[in-house]
Amino acid sequence: AKSEGRGTYRFFEAKLGTQVRERRILEHDLRHAIARGEMHLVYQPQTDVQSGAIFGFEVLLRWQHSERGPISPALFIPIAEESGAILQIGEWVLRAACREAASWPNPLSVAVNVSAVQLLAPHFAQMVHEVLFQTELRPERLEIEITETALIRDPSRAQSTLRQLKALGLRIAMDDFGTGYSSLSNLRAYPFDKIKIDGSFIRAVDENEQTQAIVRSVLGLGRGLGLPVLAEGVETAEELRFLIEENCQSAQGYLMGRPAAIEQFAEHTHNTTVP
Ligand code: C2E
Ligand code: CA
Ligand code: CA
Ligand code: CA
Repeated sequence: AKSEGRGTYRFFEAKLGTQVRERRILEHDLRHAIARGEMHLVYQPQTDVQSGAIFGFEVLLRWQHSERGPISPALFIPIAEESGAILQIGEWVLRAACREAASWPNPLSVAVNVSAVQLLAPHFAQMVHEVLFQTELRPERLEIEITETALIRDPSRAQSTLRQLKALGLRIAMDDFGTGYSSLSNLRAYPFDKIKIDGSFIRAVDENEQTQAIVRSVLGLGRGLGLPVLAEGVETAEELRFLIEENCQSAQGYLMGRPAAIEQFAEHTHNTTVP
């Protein structure tokens, strides 16, 4: 039994070694991914729940590794955050997204994910200001999505950067609401413009009453605070029906549209207004 235990230990040790090596490789490759043209953006429609109309798109990053194929953001974003590569990558995402959105008919908006590392980095708001200026996107058409981890790490710095961003005229959404470090006081302490309820709640809303009660309360909270609520991860007609009945403002999910190349949405994003 003893030798078996050792063997197991060696197995785990070897496995751990492989994981560390894997991570180092990805960390290295991430630094060159943009220059190698391996990164691209996909867009997912955000719709008005009552009318079904698309009012904007969330931008999601995709990494097509030249040898390994597609790598999930759930895997590479945390590595990019730890290594600091997210600063360069995040700026690239923001600039590309704003440039793209500037070509859409007004008032279609674009929502960009910003990680805690970016938000807390020096001069983040100034960088956003420069990107808006360079791309000529009107600030009210840009929404930044942040999760509560950014607030936990350095509340006062997060507070001052969020205020600077608000002063630029853009909007700020609280992403993944209801998960992780969620705290109701954050809704009051920081200048949020929107609550995004995490998809894990929305997906279960057609399955159990507790989840319905939670989603209802978040919608009530939004109403009370004057903050619109967007439901993420809507996959079924039943889930959408619940949101319609409960007067949820907006939604996003595979039911309304999967993240895709922007060309897939040309009928919405093509500027047809007569000059
Ligand atoms: P997120 O910001 O919560 O984005 C929503 C995720 O849910 C996306 O996964 C999206 O493809 C997926 N999704 C959308 N609708 C549905 C649905 O109906 N059902 C299900 N099951 N999933 C749905 P994705 O693209 O894999 O991104 C994962 C996470 O990676 C994002 O979560 C975000 O935290 C991060 N991420 C992605 N792009 C960026 C980026 O440009 N910058 C930063 N900092 N993070 C990013
Ligand atoms: Ca998001
Ligand atoms: Ca989310
Ligand atoms: Ca479901």
